[in-house]
Amino acid sequence: MTQSHGASGQTHPKASSGGAKGAKVPVGTRVVIDEAGLASLFSVLVKVGYQPIGPKVRDDAVVYEEISSPSDLPIGWSDEQEGGTYRLVPGTKGAMFEYLVGPTSWKKYLFPPKQKLFAADRKGNGFKIEENKEDVPAYAFIGVRSCELQAIKIQDKVFGFDREDAHDKGIFSDPGYVARRSKALIVAVNCSRAGKTCFCSSMGGDPHVREGQGFDLSLTELSPDGKHEFVVEVGSDRGGLILDLLPHRAAQGADMEAVQAQAKKARGQMGRKMVPKVKDLLQRNLRHERWDEVAERCLSCANCTMVCPTCFCTTVEETTDLTGDHAERWRYWDSCFSVDFSYIHGGAIRRENRARYRQWMTHKLANWHDQFGSSGCVGCGRCITWCPVGIDITKEAKVISESDGVMSQKMD
Ligand code: SF4
Ligand code: SF4
Repeated sequence: MTQSHGASGQTHPKASSGGAKGAKVPVGTRVVIDEAGLASLFSVLVKVGYQPIGPKVRDDAVVYEEISSPSDLPIGWSDEQEGGTYRLVPGTKGAMFEYLVGPTSWKKYLFPPKQKLFAADRKGNGFKIEENKEDVPAYAFIGVRSCELQAIKIQDKVFGFDREDAHDKGIFSDPGYVARRSKALIVAVNCSRAGKTCFCSSMGGDPHVREGQGFDLSLTELSPDGKHEFVVEVGSDRGGLILDLLPHRAAQGADMEAVQAQAKKARGQMGRKMVPKVKDLLQRNLRHERWDEVAERCLSCANCTMVCPTCFCTTVEETTDLTGDHAERWRYWDSCFSVDFSYIHGGAIRRENRARYRQWMTHKLANWHDQFGSSGCVGCGRCITWCPVGIDITKEAKVISESDGVMSQKMD
């Protein structure tokens, strides 16, 4: 059995165990596959041991779940998104990837919402601790957008992925995340359009993926209602091995012109924009009066943190059985919008809505830079779309920038 290396440089033996016998297609190669080629991609991924995860329609939204063939994709569906609004609408006939990001993100697979950490069983005068040893599946994520690749990179840093020196340097490294991420194969899909809540361009991103963003293969869907084809770019050795097993033709100049035209169109459709230099802006406006105004609208429902592909806050809970002989510790997603999240001895330190909203927004856009060396926001727009009262992080930043230094009389 040979071994192959993913976009992350991680080794994953399964990737080549299905018989990637041909020559590896070099990184950077661009080819074209048709619908039959896309169906082959699914078959090959399953054959070499991956569990495909991708977009499908459920409960009137496009969500990421287990899928097994292109027929599971949201064929012919598009969406309309605005602050507090999401609607599936009929799109271009036959289009498989015309939808934009929905309420789920890949983090639910790499960083599950609920996870057992360990169990403890009474033994003599003490306890025997059993670490949670889960069987980590090898996911193949199909349809990862450019902003989502960026979000995965951000969580890689948070969870200490790709840091072999993490333990020696005392850097936190989450073994479950690292195991799942190491095995995951990423098939990116370029956005054919941008939505009204998208603002990746002003966060340093782009609707089309770029070299070095960490994908194994990327797809650009062309002419779904005509000659339905996909331009495929190889992003890693592992992607090259898989592509070699698919029927394909070399990409021509006209194919690449169509890709460029699509990228240009999507860039022009970007619905929102983040103000420049937002880190400094927010850090010098911690007592701006806008925090009071937004607090009156914010429901503290935590939707924005649940849908955000980079938010990573958790809580832990212990449970015991009735005899007290068996206990388990579980980790759950939590949110800085819950009062309990900031509970320390004596009570919660962020009791008011404005303190919680300010914590979230300033962490995302400002303090994240100090902590992790980048913004914690990729401009996917999910927090705007899925906020029930339509609070818009770009608008809040803009209002503060237009009244920079207008201080609230209230003290925290
Ligand atoms: S803060 Fe909002 S726009 Fe930014 S990454 Fe999170 S959900 Fe997306
Ligand atoms: S900003 Fe919106 S989504 Fe976030 S907690 Fe407040 S009401 Fe909920």
